[in-house]
Amino acid sequence: MKIICIGRNYAKHIEELANEKPEEPVVFLKPDSAILPKNNPFFIPSFSEDVHYEVEVLVKINKVGKHIATRFAHKYYDEIGLGIDFTARDVQARCKEKGLPWEKAKAFDGSAIIGDFFPKTDFDLENLSFQLLKNDSVVQDGNTSNMLWKIDELVSYVSQYFTLKKGDIIFTGTPDGVGKVKENDVLVGTIEAKESFQIRVK
Ligand code: MG
Repeated sequence: MKIICIGRNYAKHIEELANEKPEEPVVFLKPDSAILPKNNPFFIPSFSEDVHYEVEVLVKINKVGKHIATRFAHKYYDEIGLGIDFTARDVQARCKEKGLPWEKAKAFDGSAIIGDFFPKTDFDLENLSFQLLKNDSVVQDGNTSNMLWKIDELVSYVSQYFTLKKGDIIFTGTPDGVGKVKENDVLVGTIEAKESFQIRVK
């Protein structure tokens, strides 16, 4: 399976990192080795002093598709979940500066938290609220209504480049409120008040 991630999909997050608003979705990949096994703690990697959480809505692909039209995209997923795109922000800043790829900052072991999935029919996907709590305080409070590109547009867009296969997961971008994690933080992700994951930072 592969993990396809979207960057810069919420205007306020683009502002908080002082990034340029993209004309097309920003896309990068994480390998399957990036997935943190369920119930494992997240260990801050030794190569970074500034690892950030980014909570994101996840889409799980349910069949093979390529060049999917936006109007048919809904047929390619049944489940929606929540996860974290852990980012070594200091490493990413150095990559950006030099115009280098982001993988060392974004695709390292444990950088993909994949929480529980729920049937998409449980939700209004155009108006889905989700939160990240750090040590019981809300640090990110997002809603899919603020996405620059909607889920079906993202499925269509990425399928122009990558054949989507059953089990692939799309990370749809983070809202504002990203921040640094430190040892002993507890991160809880909720989607319409349903808990999707709980992670301890080591
Ligand atoms: Mg992200």
